[in-house]
Amino acid sequence: MLASFENLLKILNQEEKSGLQNKAVIGGLEQLTSHWVRTAYQESETKAQRLQIEKIAAILKAYNRLPTVDERQTAVNDIRQIIWGETPTESAPAETAETAETTTPAAPPPPKPARKPPTPRPLSVEGLSAPITRLPGIKDANAAKLEKLGVQTIGDLLSLYPRRYDDYRNLKTIHQLRYGEEVTIIASVWQTNQRKSRAGRSIVTCILSDGTGTIEATWFNQPWLEKKLAPNRQIVVSGKVDEYLGRLSFQSPEWEYLDKELIHTGRLVPVYPLTAGITAHWLRRLIKRTVDYWAPRLPDHLPDDVRERLQLLPLTEAVQQIHFPDDWQTLESARRRLAFDELLLIQLGVFKQRQEWKAHPGTPVKVDRAVVDAFLSALPFSLTGAQQRALDEILADIAQPSAMSRLLQGDVGSGKTVVALAAMLAVIADGGQAAILAPTEILAEQHYNSMRALLKQSGYSEKVNVALLTGSTKAAERKPILAGLADGSIQLLVGTHAIIQKNVVMHNLRLAVVDEQHRFGVEQRGLLRQKGTNPHMLVMSATPIPRSLALTMYGDLDLSIIDEMPAGRQEIKTVWLAPTERERAYRFVQSQIDKGRQAFIICPLVEESDKIEAKSAIEEHRRLQKEVFPNLKLGLLHGRMKAAKKEAVMADFRDGKTHILVSTSVVEVGIDIPNASIILIEGANRFGLAQLHQFRGRVGRGAHQSYCILLSDSATPEAEARLKVMEQTNNGFELAEEDLKLRGPGEFFGTKQSGLPSLKLVKLTDTKLLEMARDEAKMLIDADPLLEKPEHKLLAQRVNAFWQQISDRS
Ligand code: ADP
Ligand code: MG
Repeated sequence: MLASFENLLKILNQEEKSGLQNKAVIGGLEQLTSHWVRTAYQESETKAQRLQIEKIAAILKAYNRLPTVDERQTAVNDIRQIIWGETPTESAPAETAETAETTTPAAPPPPKPARKPPTPRPLSVEGLSAPITRLPGIKDANAAKLEKLGVQTIGDLLSLYPRRYDDYRNLKTIHQLRYGEEVTIIASVWQTNQRKSRAGRSIVTCILSDGTGTIEATWFNQPWLEKKLAPNRQIVVSGKVDEYLGRLSFQSPEWEYLDKELIHTGRLVPVYPLTAGITAHWLRRLIKRTVDYWAPRLPDHLPDDVRERLQLLPLTEAVQQIHFPDDWQTLESARRRLAFDELLLIQLGVFKQRQEWKAHPGTPVKVDRAVVDAFLSALPFSLTGAQQRALDEILADIAQPSAMSRLLQGDVGSGKTVVALAAMLAVIADGGQAAILAPTEILAEQHYNSMRALLKQSGYSEKVNVALLTGSTKAAERKPILAGLADGSIQLLVGTHAIIQKNVVMHNLRLAVVDEQHRFGVEQRGLLRQKGTNPHMLVMSATPIPRSLALTMYGDLDLSIIDEMPAGRQEIKTVWLAPTERERAYRFVQSQIDKGRQAFIICPLVEESDKIEAKSAIEEHRRLQKEVFPNLKLGLLHGRMKAAKKEAVMADFRDGKTHILVSTSVVEVGIDIPNASIILIEGANRFGLAQLHQFRGRVGRGAHQSYCILLSDSATPEAEARLKVMEQTNNGFELAEEDLKLRGPGEFFGTKQSGLPSLKLVKLTDTKLLEMARDEAKMLIDADPLLEKPEHKLLAQRVNAFWQQISDRS
């Protein structure tokens, strides 16, 4: 039999295996025709063979127009019969299949294909939470590597989405190739050689031919390829056409055998995030196997009627297509379906929480405006319009009989504390207690001192008893504080996690405030709430996110935004320097310190582990101390230090005992060190905008002109765009919008610290989808508040699982 016939039979087997979707060959079988015909003709020796080839060509050409699986099965069977020399059935020439059907209406329907893909039994949602080691071939070592990509369970692997897709559908014959094109060819191996480069690297070179010409492909450091690319093997090669010594070639292209289902070549090929020890090939194959097995078994949690009304893909198809899409359009449909799910699950969880909170009646506060006004008018400044608005919203809320749940959002330095304090004062004036929870001791101390100063100015310090309670409060001090909280003689409590411990009993907590709320988990917030009988809750955040997104992410909360900075704030001057200008940057830091100021130096982000990050911070601290600033005192802060040690280092810096604080990204929280006027950020290209902005907020808090210097090693275009935006604006909300545009919410929220579910597939431009998810969630909850109906059971499970993940993380 002709080699071309054998090849075609293999392709047809593949086509049949993949459900006769015309997918065995890129661009469909008809794409293959002219190339195949040419090769087959060259091989042919007899007239009979050439007749066979022509008949087959006719069927192949019409293949994509065959509307049903049955007809395609018939066509495949016909080609096989032609090759094996039997007479095809009457309706065989597929070209005429369409007309045949209309002209001979009496013809019996074609027999059903014998092989129908079995419908797998749906599995439970729990199956997805099985550890990845349950998959065949995944040992602990691989599991540890996958964990670096955030993959622990089978479900995680299914939602490890491609970063991008390479389009290798452009099928060409070798004589059609042009320099620079991204193409796919089908060819057979002529010969393969291996040699060593001067540096001792293995170089495998392979000459490929497809009947129209030959081309060379080269791979480095993959010596095993010599055996795999044996002469006469038919392979598919995808990549960019390169040029070497005036001849076209491929450099390290993707390739795979033709008789396998194509996953690395000849299609839209998914490109996954990688980590050390995991190759693109290995991961792609693992995900393919997992998707093939699991996707058809996934029960769809969206009720059919909802899915159809919103024109969303079924879950199985969406999961298959997001990984191995047929085309761009189907990919977008898959993304849309899965992004909708992310939004819907958040929204349902958020509604549920809101329902729970609203179910308990709160105690309305009788707000005495005179008290609040007296406090405000004694301040050395007047509130900004935005602060005033936020305060009015809060005061109106706490006067209601249901408990307030409000998010106060405002950029670093926008003045959230004073707003919270005014509200707390209103509660205290009505006979209640108030508490504010801060993430670190140093921040709690800062609040304690500034609140006492503000109360003093307005003459309230006699009437309001303030206490500070942290982990390092001495036992002797602790006792009277606990007693004062229990009997109500202390009205305002400032503290860290220490205030949510069991032994802290509050007489009448009516307003609980959480500062830097992203540092706390849902549970910790809950514990604070439990210190009173349904107290009003105010959570504060400096993570500026656009309103539309905030409404979804924090839909359980009402939202107040401070989008205005106090007047007279100095712009922090931001410059982005090349690494070659590092010396200049150091000299500038030195000049600031000579003026009596202090500086932060932030070390690059090391994503692999905080151990390595700590190590490089220690090294950098040593280098700076010894070689760059030998006459100054340098402090060091990193994530592997004990909390008490960190606090001590921060306190030394605050008290001016160190000139420069060298730190990893742990320095982020809203610490106020007015004397610090300069922050130098190394490896700035590796940080996200939100984080860079948080860093920058460490300076510019006093009267001194402040500076932010960004140093970046080789920056990607996206990173360059981020750094440029940093230079251009000091406005956190503008930055957040830009960040979302540049990176998408997935990465924006994907950090551990956000305490939010990561939106992997939602885009900023998905406002319609956002609304759709909100409306749908509302309808579902209105009709079935606890999602108890049988058709909502799966959905309820998914919501719980999704939210469980969040509280596990926070
Ligand atoms: P953040 O919102 O980051 O928590 P803070 O509440 O710490 O900001 O406020 C930062 C500084 O700005 C504080 O020193 C505070 O006293 C001051 N401040 C607050 N509101 C105003 C205002 N309206 N005008 C001037 N300064 C203000
Ligand atoms: Mg603050």
